[in-house]
This record gives sequence, C-alpha cells and structure tokens, in this order.
Amino acid sequence: MSKFSAKLTPAGFSFNLITDNNEIIATSQVYASKGACLKGIESVRTNAPWAKLVAEDLFAERVIYGNFYTVDKKNPKAEAVAIFGGHFIYVGDAEGVKELIGENTKVERYEGGLIIPGMSDGHCHCSVGGAVELFEANLLKVFDVDEFIGRIKTLIEKHPEYEVYQGFGFLTVKEVFGPFGPTADMLDGLSDKPIVLADMGLHSYLVNHAAMKRLGISKDTPDVSDGIVVRYEDGTPTGWFREGAMAYIKPLVGFTVEQYKEGFLRYQEEYLAHGMTIFMDAIINWDYTDNEVLALHELDKEGKLKMHAYGAYQVFQAEGHDTIAEVEHAAALRERTKGPMFDLINTKIQLDGTISPTLGTAYMKQAYCDPESQKTGNRGQLRMDMDTLTAVYRRSHELGMAVHLHAIGDGALAMALDAIEKANAQTGPCDLRDAVAHLEVVDHADIPRMAKLGVVASTDPFWIPLPPELEPIQNYGLGKERTAAMHPIKSFFDEGVVVSSASDYPITYPAYALEGIQMGVTRYQPGRPDSLHCPSECATVDQMIQACTLNAARQFQSEDRYGSISVGKEADMVVLEQDITACDPAKIVDTSVLRTMVGGEWVYTRA
Ligand SMILES: [Zn+2]
Repeated sequence: MSKFSAKLTPAGFSFNLITDNNEIIATSQVYASKGACLKGIESVRTNAPWAKLVAEDLFAERVIYGNFYTVDKKNPKAEAVAIFGGHFIYVGDAEGVKELIGENTKVERYEGGLIIPGMSDGHCHCSVGGAVELFEANLLKVFDVDEFIGRIKTLIEKHPEYEVYQGFGFLTVKEVFGPFGPTADMLDGLSDKPIVLADMGLHSYLVNHAAMKRLGISKDTPDVSDGIVVRYEDGTPTGWFREGAMAYIKPLVGFTVEQYKEGFLRYQEEYLAHGMTIFMDAIINWDYTDNEVLALHELDKEGKLKMHAYGAYQVFQAEGHDTIAEVEHAAALRERTKGPMFDLINTKIQLDGTISPTLGTAYMKQAYCDPESQKTGNRGQLRMDMDTLTAVYRRSHELGMAVHLHAIGDGALAMALDAIEKANAQTGPCDLRDAVAHLEVVDHADIPRMAKLGVVASTDPFWIPLPPELEPIQNYGLGKERTAAMHPIKSFFDEGVVVSSASDYPITYPAYALEGIQMGVTRYQPGRPDSLHCPSECATVDQMIQACTLNAARQFQSEDRYGSISVGKEADMVVLEQDITACDPAKIVDTSVLRTMVGGEWVYTRA
C-alpha cells in the first residue's frame, strides 16, 4: 500500500509520498511545525486517498520547559522548546509542544530563573589568556615591585627547563615603576635566560638584558615607525619596547600548538561554565605564528571545540611587513582551517594605541591635555597610513573577510570610517560586518556613519567604571570633557549601530558576560557605585543581552545559525538561576549559571 512518510529533520517537518515498491513519487516542502505538516498531508490526501500515514518519527529528541527569553522579536517569550538534530524545532507555549513528545523524547523542566541564548565575547585573547595562566608568570593586579619580582621568581623556580620565561599583565603606571617606566635593570639577577613580560594591555614588552643580548639589541638598534624603543639618554634601550617596537621581541614569545590547545581548553571549560558559547580571538597571531589558528583548527577536527570560535589575523604596516600579502595569507589560512565551530573570519588592524596618563598613543581628533602633549600637539600614534588602511579593507573585502579594527581614540575611528567609505567606493558596498573595537573616545558625529556603513561597535562595558581615585589620572591626559563622555554605548544603540559586547580578556580578568551586561546597564563596578561613569549612556538590560547574543551572531555573520532561541537555529542556550530581566541590575553578577547548551548538547552542568 502507498504511504505518506512524514519525517523530522533539523530544518523542520516534511513528508514523502511513497509507492508500494518504495519509490518516492512526491516530496513536500519543509513545514515549521508538526501541525502544518499534517495539514499538508491532509490537503494532498485528496489526490491520494488510498495512502496511509506513517508518522511515527515526528517526535523531538528533547523538550525543555522553562522561562525562555528568546532575543527573537517575533516571539520574545516562550514556555517550552523542542530540539531535534541540534536545532530548535519548536519555540512556544507549553501546550503546543506536547504533540512533539514521544516515547524517547527527553523532557526537562526548569522552574524560575531565565533561559537565554548562549552569550559571547566579541573581542578577547582566549588561547593566549589560557596559556598565560598555565605557562607564564601572572602579573595582573600587581601594584608592588617586590611582588612583581616574586612572581617571576616563582615561575623560574618551578620551571628550570624553560628556555624563555614569559609573563603577562604588568601595569605601566608610574605609581609602580616610576616616571621612567620599567627597565631591564629591575630584572637583573633573576635568570641568565631571557625574560619577556607583556603589559596588561599587550601594548609593550619589558625584557631583561639576556633577552636583548639574545636578540642582538643594542644602542645601534634602529627606531621603528609604529612604536617606541625606550632609551636612556645615551641611546641604550632600557628594556621597554612599546607598540610596534614589540616586533623586536617577538622571536622570544609565543607557544607551541600543543600549549595553545591546552591553554584554550582551560579557557573553554571556565567560560562555558559562565554561559559563554561564542568568542572572537582578536589577535590570533599575536606571536606572529599560525600556531593558535592551527590549535583551534585541530581542536575543531577532534570535536573538542564546544564554543563558536572566531579569529582575527593581525596585519601590519612596518619594517619587514608586506601588509597585503599578510591579508592574503590570512584568507588562505582561513580556507585551510575553516570547520564547523572555527572560522578565521577577520583581518585585524591595530590602528592606534592606548590612553595613558603620559604620552597617550590612542589617536585623537584633538591633542591630549597633559602639559607635554599640549606643548607638542601630541594626538597619539597611528600604526597605519590612510592608503594602506584603505587597501587592507579593500583586499579583505575582496577575499570575503571583514576587518576587526582597534580604535580607542576618536581620530582612529573617524579614519577607519573614511577608509571603509573609500574601499566601498572602489569595490561596491559589502555586508561583511566590519567591526571597530574598544571605542573609548567617540565623536558623536561618527556614530550615524557607523550605522550607515553597517560597522559593528565592539564595545567594552567592563571598562566603563571610573573610580574617583582614577578620575584625576584620566582627566590629566584626556581632559574632563572627553573623560566624562567615554564609552557612549547607549548612543550607539540609539543611532541603530549593531552593538556587541567584549572584554578583551585577559586584559579584563576574569571576563564573564553577565558582568559585562551589568556594567553596560549600571555603568559602575559591581559593589562600587562611586565609580559611576557617564550615567546618560546607561544601556537597558534588553540591549545588553542582545549585545551578548544576537548581535554577536551578527558580528560573525551567523544570525541565521544562532544568537536567538528561534525555530531553525542551532540549540544554544544558558539556564540562569535568576531572571536577570527582573532582578536589581546591580545584582546581575550574582546570577549562577546552571547549565549551558551548544548545538543541542549540554556542555556544562553545575555540580
Ligand atoms: Zn584586544
């Protein structure tokens, strides 16, 4: 006897009309619900009244009841979801899901709390961060030179086998090292082997004399166009290499593919436990090798990559670099390493530096306010000229890659937007989701331009708070007016810019998305209301959740795949112990993550 064979796939419900000898004579469209599919069968049945219905497989693998906040405008709340083949096949009320529960369907219930899509970090350095914790001296939050030295000593004692001792996270402020900054002399007597320490912003290296000797660095080592070799009056390098001058030190830094894998898995375990399922490693070649790309690619092939992983490959304009060849290398590397969970989706440009109380390197429209800068007109430092910048956008776009650009000053942002306009004029507009990261000082005139060009604002809500003890330091370099208006996150939303949320981990450490959501809303450090900074720019909880979910998916051109709890999307979600849309926003950080799901599988469950 002929039959209608209904079937369920991750895309939805469909049916075939099959003859006695098992020939498929008709295939239906894909229906969004079981009911619609059965109706479809009924309407066709008039032409084939003899066929019987075989529909025993129309059941979900998993049905979950709970308080769903979907981040899907068309269907913002739900009581139940059904999952099949790693995808949501139903998102709706509790009644409607019943017909999808069969004998083998796993049914789970979560009372109270809130279930939201998996959360993201739109700009971090996760494998480096993980590897730093495993293989380096952790110098974060060290304000005391003795402790600084002590931590390096501990690493050296623990690992006599290391050829180079690396550390991360020291503060460059004069309160720790004096007005001249850190010097190699401070590291004398610790080891005969090279010591290389990165500052907490990854914008400079401090090295010992052994490192300089190994690298052949001396008085005669030339200056670089995109950085600073800090020197004594007689020209001898002090051991502190800033921005582009870090290139001199790179031969001594970095990790093997195996170390990166280990470092990443450490990161993944911790961050899945905090509900995070998406990240962008914003300088995936920070040691100038492809090792981290290869590490993520290998983990992806081995099925060990549980987070949606993206990378940005930094390209340089400086001595010894062919910028466009680097863009092309990145695109070729992407082709070789793209997998189900990993995609080297961006090229990366570090256009300017950082805001620092003395001699800021972030590129401003107006000069810094410290006396030295006022005298010289210092507006910061650019690491790429306009022609090269435009060429990087153009070539990246031609190769299907978006550009992730570091801009802390308003001058750098404006320049990036100019370059995108120029590149688009040559190649035609594209929808690749270029992003600008950090955006600490922004000229409001540039915000509508970002919206028009479709440029994602990768913001750092973790960096918003400004405690009173730091305000004078910030004012000293930036001036009161610019300081007061930093991190205009609400304005980005108001002007229709796609806003994502980022931490810059391990520069922010730890860097859990819920904390970012809270700080985007309250604009002060948890527990420190006196660090409130520019309250007129407070975003809403809804906006910040969107920044961490759907907008991250948009940043990675994946809003069709995930980012909201919607039928047809991959089943990524986080079960939160409390409803963060209803609680006091200052208590969002106290929320426990109970479970995290990626692609229909629980990847974290609270013990
Ligand atoms: Zn970064």
